[in-house]
Amino acid sequence: MGKMGRSAAAVLFAAAVCAALFFLLHTAAPQTSASSESFRLGTYVRLSVYGSPDPKRLLSEADDAVARLESLFSANIPTSDVARLNAAGGRWVQVSDETAALLEKALSLAELTGGAFNPAIGGIVKLWKIGTPEARIPGSGEISAAMPFTDYRKIELRFCVGAAEARIPDGMSLDLGAVAKGFVADILKEKLKAGGAKSALIDLGGNLDVLGPSPKGGAWRLGLQLPWGARGEYFGIVEASDVSVVTSGPYERYFEKDGVRYHHIIDPETGRPADSDLSSVSVIGPDSASADALCTALYVMGSEKAAEFLAEHGDINAVLLKAGENKILVTAGAAEIFRPARDSFSVERIGP
Ligand code: FAD
Ligand code: MG
Repeated sequence: MGKMGRSAAAVLFAAAVCAALFFLLHTAAPQTSASSESFRLGTYVRLSVYGSPDPKRLLSEADDAVARLESLFSANIPTSDVARLNAAGGRWVQVSDETAALLEKALSLAELTGGAFNPAIGGIVKLWKIGTPEARIPGSGEISAAMPFTDYRKIELRFCVGAAEARIPDGMSLDLGAVAKGFVADILKEKLKAGGAKSALIDLGGNLDVLGPSPKGGAWRLGLQLPWGARGEYFGIVEASDVSVVTSGPYERYFEKDGVRYHHIIDPETGRPADSDLSSVSVIGPDSASADALCTALYVMGSEKAAEFLAEHGDINAVLLKAGENKILVTAGAAEIFRPARDSFSVERIGP
């Protein structure tokens, strides 16, 4: 073999060794975790899965599921179930099983909260347009004209053979923005679990849902945003596994005019942004859709009514931050897994 021949053989040998090493490393330690980020449901959807045999495929399937659910629930997509119901002029509309299940859940949560969570609030939301460049203060005449169309008890749902149908009064507008993200999180969590993930973090902008224990072992540490702090600055930490933590507050979507802040959580009794003495409400529980609707409702109620409601419903766990005070109200179950991030916050127990 000549000089050139020997060095070519050496290169070939080295390449073969590298290929064998690469193969060995990859078969010895297959990738079991992955993360993704997409912009859907008007927010950033961030997903991480751990301990899965095929994490990338699982995330891609999860993303397809979010896109499909958004295409059913979004009031802004004209072909969605919600948009078709809003445009049906009071007629029955065939809806998907998921929409029927979400509507059924939304109606029972509206009933539970005495209408503080109101899925029929769409007509009022559309007047204020908060969170869009066209946000404005509607006239009181416009608000009182829209109020009669917000009676969620007039929403009807029926299950026929092989199909579900819903009907809302002509002039009513459904808005599932305060519950649908939680509902989507519940479906994703089931999907990731069924797909073999041992742990997962589902973050739908304010809606956190975790599957299993933290990938480092033990409880997840989930921060609650300090409303008047920088993003990522927390007023408290929840330490738990297999749980959903959903937060609502007036600090994400709002506009200001003449020194007054108008935010996106509407008091269904006044048709105006809720005049709440709270600045953040988190509900912690196994079911993200309920937690989502409940945190919106507790915010609307304000601290006094929320404390009465939580005293009556001992199975609901919540952390409430008072506006303009370093005071945190927690239910008994929440107190076991929540701790304030600073000593300057006082913690008071509420509930039964
Ligand atoms: P939450 O407190 O959970 O909900 C507040 C929202 O619910 C309000 O924005 C209003 O829409 C509604 N609401 C207000 N008061 C009440 C009440 N008393 N009872 C019941 N509901 C109330 N955002 C965009 O900017 N563009 C989009 O295209 C878009 N598409 C979306 C599609 C879907 C399917 C969903 C679920 C959300 C979408 N969003 C979109 C986001 C949405 O507009 C809200 O910002 C978001 O759902 C509110 O969540 P939150 O956690 O901030 O507040
Ligand atoms: Mg909500």
